[in-house]
Amino acid sequence: MKVPLLDLRAQYRQIRAEVMAAIEAVCEEQGFVLGPRVIELEQALARYVGTAHATGVASGSDALLLALMAVGVGGGDEVITVPYTFFATAGSISRLGAKPVFVDIVPHTYNMDPSGIEKNITARTKAIIPVHLFGQCAAMEDILEIAKRRKVPVIEDACQAIGAARRGVRAGAFGDAGCFSFFPSKNLGGFGDGGLVTTNDPNLNEAVAMLRVHGSRVRYVHELVGANSRLDALQAAILRVKLNYLDQWTEARRRNAGRYEQLFKQANLLDRVVLPKTETDNVHVFNQFTIRAKQRDDLRTYLKEKGIGTEIYYPVPLHLQSCYRELGYQKGDLPVSERAAEEVLSIPVYAELTDDQLVYVVDQISSYYRAH
Ligand SMILES: *Cc1c(COP(=O)(O)O)cnc(C)c1O
Repeated sequence: MKVPLLDLRAQYRQIRAEVMAAIEAVCEEQGFVLGPRVIELEQALARYVGTAHATGVASGSDALLLALMAVGVGGGDEVITVPYTFFATAGSISRLGAKPVFVDIVPHTYNMDPSGIEKNITARTKAIIPVHLFGQCAAMEDILEIAKRRKVPVIEDACQAIGAARRGVRAGAFGDAGCFSFFPSKNLGGFGDGGLVTTNDPNLNEAVAMLRVHGSRVRYVHELVGANSRLDALQAAILRVKLNYLDQWTEARRRNAGRYEQLFKQANLLDRVVLPKTETDNVHVFNQFTIRAKQRDDLRTYLKEKGIGTEIYYPVPLHLQSCYRELGYQKGDLPVSERAAEEVLSIPVYAELTDDQLVYVVDQISSYYRAH
């Protein structure tokens, strides 16, 4: 049996006619950059996330970049974030000439440990970026309490967490801004790159909307130095179709996660494998189902031979990346992140998985540990 980590073709088969009709309509209109399709998507997503505003941009990485620019981060500033995330979280900080300052994560959620924030705040700290990793919100009430008291803006990296909620608030609606990605492998994925910035602050929204078109409100009049970072009408039209299915796909991911839990328990694997833990306040949307596994690399090779796709998110924490050598971090500085990098393995959890496939994955993990 084959179980890829993600099967986008299986999703596409369900929605092909609707997506093709949307693409066809945009082709007939011949309006490809921004425009009414993008505005319609922005409004629908602002409603979905629960913010007053949303602005489409070219990618999740650019969402982070433009949100940081909009809160005034620039050369010589510091931004507090986690080292256990996709590179773009920190890369967006560095691209502005600012310095990422890393705080460790908590082991059971892989999200920012709020207790590490305050001792890293300096006069230069201009923002905090918590990441809602794998589809579960970070401990936002603690993070926001510190940020508010120290008057530091919070930009959420919600790229993996569209639809995730904590105490009834959705990812992207907690901080000064929320950043989303429509990279194809995200829970709401386009047919290429795309991103979004959500906010309740009309001024911040206006700034992002200007920054994505070279800092102009009126064509050829530039109030800020921005970028070309616009969302395409084709992507917006496709995403608008997919948004109607997002809740149903999320529910399927959550069902699959629940089924895994049952299967891993039945197979008595909980001494070999640590399952993802959802905090009671959280609705987890399982962009990834990430376990910690004994003999992780060997298990991964074994599963590959059995036709099961897995991935290591993430093998090298950002404070130990060669491009950040000059920041001066050493191995051992952020031990929870480093340990996670050595132990984690993400296994297939996408919506279209069949029960036979879920059973097969756990059976193969079981047979690996019986033999090793
Ligand atoms: C995907 C992702 C990004 C970047 O999004 P792109 O659209 O690929 O630029 C940023 N942060 C996290 C946590 C992500 O998962």
